[in-house]
Amino acid sequence: MSKIAIVGAGLSGLYLGKLLQSDGHNVELFEKSRGPGGRLCGRRLDVGQHDMGAPYLSDRPGHPLLQELESAGVIMPWMPRLARIEPFGLQPITNPHIRWVGVPYHNAISRYLARGLCITPSTRIVGIQPTDMGWQLTTLEGAYPEFFEWVFLANPPEQSHALSCDFLSPPTIQMGPTFTVLLCSELGPDMGVDMAWGESVIGTMIDTTSKPQRRPDLKLWTLHASDGWSKANVDAPLDWVGDQLTQSFLGVTKWAPAIIDTQVHRWLYATMGEATDSVYLDPSLRLGRLGDWTVRGDSWGAIESAIQIKEQFDHAG
Ligand SMILES: Cc1cc2nc3c(=O)[nH]c(=O)nc-3n(C[C@H](O)[C@H](O)[C@H](O)COP(=O)(O)OP(=O)(O)OC[C@H]3O[C@@H](n4cnc5c(N)ncnc54)[C@H](O)[C@@H]3O)c2cc1C
Repeated sequence: MSKIAIVGAGLSGLYLGKLLQSDGHNVELFEKSRGPGGRLCGRRLDVGQHDMGAPYLSDRPGHPLLQELESAGVIMPWMPRLARIEPFGLQPITNPHIRWVGVPYHNAISRYLARGLCITPSTRIVGIQPTDMGWQLTTLEGAYPEFFEWVFLANPPEQSHALSCDFLSPPTIQMGPTFTVLLCSELGPDMGVDMAWGESVIGTMIDTTSKPQRRPDLKLWTLHASDGWSKANVDAPLDWVGDQLTQSFLGVTKWAPAIIDTQVHRWLYATMGEATDSVYLDPSLRLGRLGDWTVRGDSWGAIESAIQIKEQFDHAG
C-alpha cells in the first residue's frame, strides 16, 4: 500500500482520496482553504450559511456516487422554475430535468466525502520535490516533515502547473474568473422563478432558498456574473462589482426588496468553456494531475477525473 499526497480538497481530490483510501492506501490531502470543497464551497453570512459555488449537481441516473449521496441523505432532488434573462425581464422556460442539491447546504457533499479522510487544511503547497526518500512537499512554513511515494495535483491548471512545471508539460487550457454575489433580502412576493440564465452582467441567478431544507423566512439569492463580464472586470473593486450585479438583479426582477446583507467573492480560476485537457499520470515520476478541467468543467467532470486517474494508477501498479 502506498503513501499518497493529494494537493487540493475540492471534489476531484476528495473523491480520489476516498477511492484510494478504500483500497487501503495511506492518503493525506493538503488544502489551502480552511475547509474542503473548493468550488463547491459555501459562505457564512450574518443570517446563516449560503451556497456560493456550484449551485447543484446535474442528474446522472444510476451513478454509484449519486445513489450513495442520496441514500446517505446528503442530497435531495430540486426542480427549480427556470427562466432566461432577456433585455425585457425574465422569460420562463420549461426543463423537466431533476437537479440534485446538498442539504442543508450544497457543500454537505464535500463534507460527506471528507469524512474519514486525513485532510490538512489552511496549508498551501508551494513546491514539490523528488528525493531519495520520495516526494517532499513544501508549505509556506517550510518542508513538510513526511515523504510520499505518490503525489496527485487536484487543483486548477494554473496552480497545478506552478507546482509541476519542472516535471510535466504545461496544461493546454487556462481557467477564467467569475464573481459571485450573495444577496440576502426580505421575503417579498413570489417571482415564479428559482433560477435564470443570462449573458449580460448576470450569468446565473439562483434563489437558494427554493432548494430543499433551506430557511423559509428570508430570500438568499446567489448571483454569478457572466464569463464575459467577469473577464472584462476582473480587477474591479469588489464593492463596485457587488453594486453592479445587485443593480442588474433588481432591474431584471423589477423588484425593490429591503436588502439585509450582501457579500462578493472573486474566483480567479472558475470557468473554462468547452475545451478540456486530460488526466495525466506519470508512473515513473509517481506524479499525476486531475480536476474538472481534465475532463469537463463541471462537478461530474471533477468526479470523472478522479475515477480516470484511479484507473491509471491501478494499471501502473
Ligand atoms: C460560480 C460557479 C458555478 C458553478 N456551477 C456549476 C454547476 O451549476 N454545476 C456543476 O456541476 N458545476 C458547477 N461549477 C463547477 C464545479 O464547482 C467544479 O467543476 C468542481 O467543484 C471542481 O472541483 P475540482 O476538485 O476539480 O476543483 P476545485 O473545486 O477548484 O478544487 C481545487 C482545490 O485545490 C485547492 N488548492 C489549489 N491550489 C492549492 C495548493 N497549492 N495547495 C493546497 N490547496 C490548493 C483549492 O483551494 C481548492 O479547494 C461551478 C463553479 C463555479 C465557481
